[in-house]
Amino acid sequence: MNPRSEFAFLLEASPRTTSSSDASPNHSLPALRIPPGESYLAMREDGEPLVTTECDPSHATPLFRLAPVRIAQLQVLLLVPVDGKASRVNGSRVPEIALLKPGDQLSLDPRFQLHVALVRRPYQGTPPQELIGKQCPVCTVPFESQTTIFLCPCGTGLHDEGDDRPAEVRLECAKLASLCPGCQQPMDRKESISTVPDV
Ligand SMILES: [Zn+2]
Ligand SMILES: [Zn+2]
Repeated sequence: MNPRSEFAFLLEASPRTTSSSDASPNHSLPALRIPPGESYLAMREDGEPLVTTECDPSHATPLFRLAPVRIAQLQVLLLVPVDGKASRVNGSRVPEIALLKPGDQLSLDPRFQLHVALVRRPYQGTPPQELIGKQCPVCTVPFESQTTIFLCPCGTGLHDEGDDRPAEVRLECAKLASLCPGCQQPMDRKESISTVPDV
């Protein structure tokens, strides 16, 4: 699991009353963040879903166990019904175990549709241990422990040094690249939410 990305459910109310033409989720939908490790998708007494790490939350009934896992290069969300309660993923009944990927839709009673999304968090700072000594894909200079890098959510690092380095030796590779050399995605410095499978 890439620590810079996490799953979330984008919550949409009453999808059955809307036409199929607006099937694409609106990214302003409220998001339920899914923490690393095991958590639960539960239904509160007032009928609103929530994600919690408590297996016996007060004022809520756990419906599914959740765990983000990585299978080969794919990030998926493991979903296990707590009590065999029926629900639907992409229109089909949830089997004993379902593996959800971004873009999948989970129906929790007729009132809610949950869109599976991946939240990607870019990072700027000193390189993680595994990148030290590896070459920057833009300038090919190996990363030193005290440099500053921009780390794309895909794991690619690029030099991103600033004012603390003299201009003559400053490496600003992240500013030179408009697309990440690793994943060809725009070098977005803001958190982004994607409902497209992460490959
Ligand atoms: Zn560089
Ligand atoms: Zn990337």
